[in-house]
Amino acid sequence: MHDTLVELRRDLHRHPEPAWREFYTTARIVDELETRTVDELHVGPEVLGEDRTAVPDEAELDEWYDRAREAGARADLLDRLRGGNTGAVAVLRRGEGPTVGLRVDIDGLPITESDADDHRPAAEGFRSANEGYMHACGHDAHAAIGVGVLDAVAESDFSGTLKVFFQPGEEMVAGGRSMAEGGHLDDVDSLLAVHVGLDHPTGEVVAGIGGFLAVSQFRADFTGEAAHAGGHPERGRNAVQAMAAAVQNLYAIPRHADGATRVNAGRVGGGTASNIVPEEAFVDAEVRGETTELMEYVDDRARRVVDHAAAMHDCEVAVTQVGRAPSGESDEELVAVVADAAEVTDGVDTVTRRDELGGSEDATYLMNKVQENGGLAAYVCVGTDHPGGHHTPTFDVDEASLSIGVDVLATAVEEIGRRRP
Ligand SMILES: [Zn+2]
Ligand SMILES: [Zn+2]
Repeated sequence: MHDTLVELRRDLHRHPEPAWREFYTTARIVDELETRTVDELHVGPEVLGEDRTAVPDEAELDEWYDRAREAGARADLLDRLRGGNTGAVAVLRRGEGPTVGLRVDIDGLPITESDADDHRPAAEGFRSANEGYMHACGHDAHAAIGVGVLDAVAESDFSGTLKVFFQPGEEMVAGGRSMAEGGHLDDVDSLLAVHVGLDHPTGEVVAGIGGFLAVSQFRADFTGEAAHAGGHPERGRNAVQAMAAAVQNLYAIPRHADGATRVNAGRVGGGTASNIVPEEAFVDAEVRGETTELMEYVDDRARRVVDHAAAMHDCEVAVTQVGRAPSGESDEELVAVVADAAEVTDGVDTVTRRDELGGSEDATYLMNKVQENGGLAAYVCVGTDHPGGHHTPTFDVDEASLSIGVDVLATAVEEIGRRRP
């Protein structure tokens, strides 16, 4: 099994695709699963809610679609993913018992992969074939682990239903909400989500990650009116001024007594020339909070800042939500099951009960939904030695952690089947 998973992981590593463009990735996963003992396979629009954010334009989608086809993805599967409806849910039905979910994310990042000799994917021929894009967070490993867990649970004494959610668009904080609303999560009693690495070495398992920062990412497009900057500046309405006023005042939002918040105006642009009053400008910004309420506090004020910065310079502004995710916590009952499973797994030498993520993750949409329905959720970290940090050109996973992840999760799934009616 290990060799099959390594082969799959390396193939996915060669074809990294960002949010809603995971055409090759989804087709490859589904193609792989069709040869296995899976009872149901739901693909693309069948697994997503209607309301998606951060979907690229048609030309961009077409480019990635064609690229996937040229890379050898099956045409009949690609056809089902049209419009960037990527992702899949695989279901294994094994009699009476609870419905257990496992969420793995499958997207890559816009970063150029290292071609250094000591970077293993480069040295061993599975470096990214999509120049400028890379699996720099280990989601290729997650997809392989998802397939491996289906295999392992199919061969176990598990009683119940297992659903594996292959989720697109995590890095844009865009796929989680859509997948949570896709319908397949509604009957899930216990949900596990998994991430490799996160600065934990091979052999360590963290049974319950918490401390997810809730996040809201948005783009504000300011529109003014062009005019001759020398001849008639009074006739112009300056969109760059509006944008700049917004950026300054986003950082002026007061902190909050209840906990940590974050603000970042990460990317700006606007105008066309030094002698033209700029007609258009934009800012890509995000806010975060230790809790969902704290994020909403900053988010509400950020929207007000943007609106009034536009008004101050007689401009219009349109705000588009890009990514969004609530905060989340792992449930103790499930954390205990995972910790026990890790204790008896070969290759695990350290079981850490809890740790904080300190970043954001849209698995929280799925976790919160299951918890709101009365179920349990846990976010598990499977340690892996990674030479470079996450989101850097030299990131790589230690493939030994694939089997460890599969074993820990499959054992936990089997145990959940025993425990919860
Ligand atoms: Zn990441
Ligand atoms: Zn990640």
